[in-house]
Amino acid sequence: MRKHNFCAGPAALPTAVLERARDEMLDYQGRGLSVMEMSHRSATYMAIAEKAEADLRDLLAVPANYRVLFTQGGATQQFAAVPYNLLGPGGRANVINTGIWSKKAIAEARHLFGDVHVAASSEAGGHLAVPRPEEIVLSNDAAYLHFTANETIGGLAFDYIPGNAPGSEERGPRRPDGSEAPLVCDMSSSILSGPLDVSRFGVIYAGAQKNIGPAGLVVVIVRDDLLDRARTDMPSLFSYQALADAGSMINTPATYSWYLAGLVFEWLKDEVGGLAAMDAINARKAARLYGAIDASDFYSNPIAIPNRSRMNVPFVLNDSRLDKPFLAEAEAAGLLNLQGHRSVGGMRASLYNAVPEAAVEALVAFMADFEKRRG
Ligand SMILES: *Cc1c(COP(=O)(O)O)cnc(C)c1O
Repeated sequence: MRKHNFCAGPAALPTAVLERARDEMLDYQGRGLSVMEMSHRSATYMAIAEKAEADLRDLLAVPANYRVLFTQGGATQQFAAVPYNLLGPGGRANVINTGIWSKKAIAEARHLFGDVHVAASSEAGGHLAVPRPEEIVLSNDAAYLHFTANETIGGLAFDYIPGNAPGSEERGPRRPDGSEAPLVCDMSSSILSGPLDVSRFGVIYAGAQKNIGPAGLVVVIVRDDLLDRARTDMPSLFSYQALADAGSMINTPATYSWYLAGLVFEWLKDEVGGLAAMDAINARKAARLYGAIDASDFYSNPIAIPNRSRMNVPFVLNDSRLDKPFLAEAEAAGLLNLQGHRSVGGMRASLYNAVPEAAVEALVAFMADFEKRRG
């Protein structure tokens, strides 16, 4: 019996995808072996890899001047790979700090290259709202502006694209001297949750284990004019140019994770009906849970309403002595992984694409019942 899984990552996968993987596990489409056991250079595997990329391009309407890379090392490796690929000579990383993941991106760029310009930060306000567009100030030596679209731990999401504020003509963040800097986005916990205008970004990257597939894979989408800005002293496996030249097969890729990601893309296209349909479902799920939280004096979420994450919904019980019984009873009711991140405590329900509306209904019903009995 599959229970309702609200894990922040590695996260729920669509049951239909797991069933298909099960059916193809021992003998992939009559080839007599598992996808896990195939050469990544075989025609059969190349077809799997190419179909996955084609479906992802189709879902996100990725323009032709962007390369799609399937790499490894987690989103955390991109905290290093991004500056190595984009800093060039003399440029400086510019990063917006909206929480724990952006801080890690800042720390890694600082560790490797010394100086990072924090272009805006929501830290003083406790990361309860993202910086306003006018608070973002780049340095004149900005090689790029990095931001985290959805802070997975804090449940804080941008409601606009930095440098591309609603109603403005800007098509990218500007340095004080007026020149445009490429926009880099860590989209690990929100990619594919709805339609996206890829053309507004220089680089998008996402670890797979939230909304794409199993852990072990990272998707990078990079505009091709940014491929020539890399430092020469970097590990060759980090190089976007080398990955693009090799079709993401400099070395053995995470073949099975890539295959499963492909099944998720097919599911999004064929079962869900694309990202506009996914967007509507995600909006309903988030509205249902935040609505229940806001309607009660027993549960609360402190994030500014326009910046509430649709993917990760942290909430606290007004009496933290009830945290343990809440989690134990939720688990007994088939609602798994609701504990908040170890650094913040409380609860967190992650509502990624693969979490069905029925799971949210079950959670809301459990929360109401718990409040009635214990509130
Ligand atoms: C999970 C996550 C990461 C880290 O991913 P790893 O694959 O564990 O390195 C980075 N950024 C965001 C926004 C995340 O949600």
